[in-house]
Amino acid sequence: MPTDEKTTVDEAFIRRALDEADLNALRMALYQATGDESLLALKLQQTPAFGGSSTLTTVAAEGQDELKAKALAFLLANPAGFGEVKPSDAELRRLFEAFRNEALTDKDWRYRRDLAAFDEHPRLARWTDGKPQVPDGYQVAIIGAGFGGIAMGVQLEKLGIPYTIYERRAELGGTWSRNIYPDARVDTTNFMYQFFFEKNYPWREYFARAPEVRDYLEHIAGKYGVKQHMQFNTDVRQAEFDEGSGTWTLTLAADGAEQVVTANAVVAASGLFANPKRFDVPGAEDFRGQLIHTAECTGQEDLDGKYVAIIGNGSTGVQMMSAVARRARSVGVFQRTPQWISPRERYGELLRPETRWLLDTMPYYWNWYSYSISTMRLGMQKTQEFDPAWQAAGGLVSKANDELRDLLTNYIKAKVGARPDLVEKLTPQHAPMARRMIVDNNWYASLLEDHVELVTDKIERLTTGGVLTADGRERHYDVIFTATGFDVEKYLWPTDFRGLGGQRIEDLWTDPAGLGPRAYLSLTVPDFPSLFIMYGPNSQNRAGSLIVWMEVWARYIAQALIATIEGGHRYAVVKPEVFEDYNQRHDAAMRELIWYDKASMGRNYYVNHWGRQQVNTAWRLEDQYESLEQFNPGDYTFG
Ligand SMILES: Cc1cc2nc3c(=O)[nH]c(=O)nc-3n(C[C@H](O)[C@H](O)[C@H](O)COP(=O)(O)OP(=O)(O)OC[C@H]3O[C@@H](n4cnc5c(N)ncnc54)[C@H](O)[C@@H]3O)c2cc1C
Repeated sequence: MPTDEKTTVDEAFIRRALDEADLNALRMALYQATGDESLLALKLQQTPAFGGSSTLTTVAAEGQDELKAKALAFLLANPAGFGEVKPSDAELRRLFEAFRNEALTDKDWRYRRDLAAFDEHPRLARWTDGKPQVPDGYQVAIIGAGFGGIAMGVQLEKLGIPYTIYERRAELGGTWSRNIYPDARVDTTNFMYQFFFEKNYPWREYFARAPEVRDYLEHIAGKYGVKQHMQFNTDVRQAEFDEGSGTWTLTLAADGAEQVVTANAVVAASGLFANPKRFDVPGAEDFRGQLIHTAECTGQEDLDGKYVAIIGNGSTGVQMMSAVARRARSVGVFQRTPQWISPRERYGELLRPETRWLLDTMPYYWNWYSYSISTMRLGMQKTQEFDPAWQAAGGLVSKANDELRDLLTNYIKAKVGARPDLVEKLTPQHAPMARRMIVDNNWYASLLEDHVELVTDKIERLTTGGVLTADGRERHYDVIFTATGFDVEKYLWPTDFRGLGGQRIEDLWTDPAGLGPRAYLSLTVPDFPSLFIMYGPNSQNRAGSLIVWMEVWARYIAQALIATIEGGHRYAVVKPEVFEDYNQRHDAAMRELIWYDKASMGRNYYVNHWGRQQVNTAWRLEDQYESLEQFNPGDYTFG
């Protein structure tokens, strides 16, 4: 984004830009620009970030002035004429090691390689030997026009494989067009919650609100030629594999009318959060005010001067509360289980013009800033791992997790310490990270306001006028928001997928004697040929950006299609023994992780009612990446 005409870029402006900069990212960018080896020798320090759940590597205090002086001199000398030179892999690996002063294994390096996004289009699948003749009529059906469907579309567009994206809504964006409750926004900063093939998008906020993310996806879909392949108002009701032709038959409800199409492969990018979880309490039908699930907000809700209840204190309930409290006359916040809620630097902040200018002007600063943010989160993984030796010595989970618990407990005390009753009610028993870490969007501060009440009594029922709690008290409300989340056990639901022998995926995944939804590499299931699921069972990465994985899954699926087309096959289906072996190894690894923390069981949406953690992957990022980097034809049978 060009600096607007009224902004004068003088020395004072540049100094302000440098004061706000990520100094370690700046150091690397300046090194690349100048080759000044002394920059690599600057001492580094580790700083806790995001409430202690992350560790930012930055330049130690004694080297900061020197670094800024050198950067100032460089920027004053008109870097506009500077020619960027993409580093070789060997050079990049050396720079990554210098970035955090760490030695990288080959596996670490491969996972990190594209986090700095130096390639024009990272994580792109390629034909083996130029584009072959794609069979006449070949079609890939993609279900869903959110991040996943768009990532897949971009891959297929680049490869020249024909595809259509079916979207039941009237517009693209998925999560970010649907969830428009007050102050809906990302809690993962957009310098990692982004596609890495789109460089330096001019985000207005560090943590964009839903409409900005939606606009971003609109921009991507338009720029990369994907939007024209989208068919809106089209619900995929059924997808059935036909063994004779080796293709899928999809039954669609398109603008209300039934339509039948065929596809050679199906990519279900239908999202994990497609089905709102209803608030299951007696009396819901009696309530005469507005009862709204947060995923069904229209943005037109009249809250001014109203009595409002928010039921639920997960990510959404906490995110919206302060914005609701600014408008409502009174807010009742209903909490069943306290949650760990962490501060997050720059949350709710606009990017200042100085920072925007630095991102636009300093060669490769955006690349290193994105890398810095992404790698800052890696340490989170340590907090998710039980340490038996630490536990045997009396610790709760591990040193990292127990320290995080202390930091977050102190944060609660710092925020609401003046109200010991609140400290007690707000302090969780379960370990941090056992459930999704929530971001403090002014939640604690708002709870201290006179017109906001935290209610922890069990809800007995809704009445015509409001909420009746177990202590016999009825509170009156005009509007009740149910921030009760999503039914994440219902992967792909209600689309009826039928694979080989007419087998239904829903039957497989809801079989009481089974284990619930499972897939190979989170992507594919035996007996369902050339069906790939994005954000499928056990797909969610343990740290960092989900969008990186959208790119990685899309590349893997594209590689599978390439292998099928180049081999002259009709479809690929994962071998049952490969699937079983993978899931057994995966589940064994999972049992060592925090999601099986006893204090959170039964209240942890990651763990399904078969007792299996089905949302996150058990693998560390570099292991997850290694298994997905290259499609292995040996894992599949081709037909
Ligand atoms: C409120 C909220 C906040 C979030 N914040 C974050 C965050 O900060 N960081 C993060 O990493 N993740 C976050 N997430 C998770 C988020 O869902 C993902 O980051 C990402 O947007 C998922 O993209 P997707 O394409 O997989 O799914 P979606 O965005 O859900 O898109 C799926 C699309 O498929 C369509 N669809 C589904 N079934 C059919 C069908 N049968 N026929 C036709 N169309 C169909 C849906 O209408 C939808 O448009 C958040 C989720 C929610 C709900």
